[in-house]
Amino acid sequence: MRGVRVRLAAATLLGAGLAVPVAAPPPAVADPAGSADTAVAPGRAVIGTEVIGRSVRGRAIPAFHLGQPGPGVPTVVLVSTMHGDERRTRHILTSLRDGAPVRGVDLWVVPTYNPDGFARATRHNARGVDLNRNYPTRWRRAEGRYDSGRAPASEPETRAMMRFLRRVDPDYVLSFHQPLHGVDTLAKRPAFAQRVARTLRLPRKTFSCNGGCRGTMTMWFNATFRGVALTVEYGARPALRELRGPVARRVLRVFGAGR
Ligand SMILES: [Zn+2]
Repeated sequence: MRGVRVRLAAATLLGAGLAVPVAAPPPAVADPAGSADTAVAPGRAVIGTEVIGRSVRGRAIPAFHLGQPGPGVPTVVLVSTMHGDERRTRHILTSLRDGAPVRGVDLWVVPTYNPDGFARATRHNARGVDLNRNYPTRWRRAEGRYDSGRAPASEPETRAMMRFLRRVDPDYVLSFHQPLHGVDTLAKRPAFAQRVARTLRLPRKTFSCNGGCRGTMTMWFNATFRGVALTVEYGARPALRELRGPVARRVLRVFGAGR
């Protein structure tokens, strides 16, 4: 299924004196199954909303487009709550979505990548699959906590994100998780990973997936595209006020952006 893009009415960017398409507050994405991200009308930062696909249970997976494409402006995708029991880092992304317009980055945020897992507060999707083991790079059958699914990209959530990332072709992807508290700096581009760790004030770490990562989203992206995908882990209970305020600002600063 192709994503449904909602084009928004043009409005005038504050102070710029130019007709630039920005959000006239956009309509909420139709979502009869009730994804948490569609309950709030997105704020002024949103220039477009797209449903990138649907979960096993038919819940919409919305992506919100913030910032503006332009020459020299990096394209960035932020993903959180791929594991439905890692519920806090989505507040970084919803804070960016719901706040003032973002400048200096062509930014997409997917706050709740696993809406079925989020609804039930479980790591897995509705078929018991760990989406971060279902991607078709070094995939291997596994069961239990790290259930890989019955085949590479067997899950609709995986295929939705693959389509979306192929189309957007971002320069950078940050995949937010909990609770390991650190940035994996054994990465495709270590200097970038170190910049992320420094700017977000997180320790540098190596995440080994208990003896070898298989079928993760960042592995697939890094093997397939010229861009860089990086896992960023916060702790078990980071303060929501921190995530919504200083952390959201630091994430923009990683890319030389602001509001
Ligand atoms: Zn996780």
